Amino acid sequence: MTAESLAALLPAGRVVTDPDVVASYARDQTYAVPGKPLAVVLARDTGDVVTTMRWAHEHRVPVVPRGAGTGLAGGATAVDGCLVLSLAKMTAIREIAPRDQLAVVEPGVITADLDRAAREHGLMYAPDPSSHEISTIGGNLATNAGGLRCVKYGVTRDSALGLEVVLADGRVIRTGGRTVKGVTGYDLTGLFVGSEGTLGVITAATLRLRPAPATPPVTVLATFGSLAAAGAAAAAVVAAGLRPSLLELMDRAALRAIDEWRGIDLEPGTAAVVIAQTDGPECPAEEIVRLCEDAGAEFAAASTDAAEADALLEVRRLAYPAAERLGHCLVEDVCVPRSRLPEMMERVERAADRHGVRILTVAHAGDGNLHPLFVFDRGLDEPPPPVQAAADEVFAAAIEMGGTLTGEHGVGVLKRSWLDGELEPDTREVLLTIKRALDPAGLLNPGKAI
Ligand SMILES: Cc1cc2nc3c(=O)[nH]c(=O)nc-3n(C[C@H](O)[C@H](O)[C@H](O)COP(=O)(O)OP(=O)(O)OC[C@H]3O[C@@H](n4cnc5c(N)ncnc54)[C@H](O)[C@@H]3O)c2cc1C
Repeated sequence: MTAESLAALLPAGRVVTDPDVVASYARDQTYAVPGKPLAVVLARDTGDVVTTMRWAHEHRVPVVPRGAGTGLAGGATAVDGCLVLSLAKMTAIREIAPRDQLAVVEPGVITADLDRAAREHGLMYAPDPSSHEISTIGGNLATNAGGLRCVKYGVTRDSALGLEVVLADGRVIRTGGRTVKGVTGYDLTGLFVGSEGTLGVITAATLRLRPAPATPPVTVLATFGSLAAAGAAAAAVVAAGLRPSLLELMDRAALRAIDEWRGIDLEPGTAAVVIAQTDGPECPAEEIVRLCEDAGAEFAAASTDAAEADALLEVRRLAYPAAERLGHCLVEDVCVPRSRLPEMMERVERAADRHGVRILTVAHAGDGNLHPLFVFDRGLDEPPPPVQAAADEVFAAAIEMGGTLTGEHGVGVLKRSWLDGELEPDTREVLLTIKRALDPAGLLNPGKAI
């Protein structure tokens, strides 16, 4: 099979077969080793996607949908003989409707671009993965991305009102709509969000916007001599019912990696930091400072202007690139009930010690969502046995605490081997039944998610 007959059906330039270009679309941000795609399709509109899916359906060619390829679970990893269907060139913000507080966008819109466009109308697009300057709305929807602000404003699913989706056989359906409520039929919008490109290709989305905060954000930075104290501080903020717009935690290993790279004057005794931000009077920064001090902070203070607020947050955004400098990273994404966060942080440290593995942990502490970054040799294609063993231990601990394998990155290919630990057989069978109903030939993103 070649892609020539598909190229003949699409406008010029849509189908790319140059091996170097094709290879650059074959993997995401992970170490997952891709297969060899047949071609890349650079879709410009829904019609291109329909033509591609009809052709793929007729010729039984697998299709891997792709946004910006920033995924951390291997979800956009190409398989042998597939079409990589890139939505990155569908970048129109078709509408911003201030009176209805919504936007209608194409899937290739960069997340932060939508937020900036909304701000011109006094609104904001709340979901803000740390990758918001490079990831796409389509990828965010397909992974149900979280972000720093989701502790207050919810994850991507909480902002999705409706979708346009091209199914595996090329049919186009619309789910949801422009209303904030709607119970007609099953919640298909909720189903497609987080389905990792395995059920359909998202070609447009109607997204909820929210009023932008009236006051500039204030950031609180608190340092701690022990991880347990930092975890307790974060848990105390949640338990007090405060609603910070973000609440993050970083451990010593993460801080040291950032310090080695960017020089942040890390004190030798600092074992962890908590970074919180508030964007409204209902969550006074002084109250967060006080709770951190009560939990044993060695230092805790609030920013005094917007520039300082942003600078303090930048340290958090450096964590992943700082880890990547050290080698390949197996990025875990476990999420536990929020009261169990301190215990989970300690279990990660213990796993690191027991298996002699370097693990840097950053956490969306307000959500109980941890990202232990397991660093290993860049020369290897997959994690060596000690890393695998430490990762097993961390996943098992999360499940044991009533948590989940993945809070926001998705299963992709990298977490499939742990699925049975979380999903009961009947639940898994229901997922497979849905997959078979929508994609009987198994062409959409095969081998991913479920
Ligand atoms: C530095 C860094 C920081 C990050 N921080 C966060 C964070 O804070 N929170 C978070 O949740 N994630 C984070 N991520 C992970 C990643 O950015 C998100 O998963 C993001 O949603 C992926 O978007 P993308 O456009 O790159 O999608 P891709 O990586 O291209 O694809 C991701 C998945 O979505 C599917 N897909 C993409 N577009 C479509 C579409 N239109 N229709 C159907 N399926 C589609 C793909 O098949 C794949 O399964 C981070 C990544 C990096 C590199």
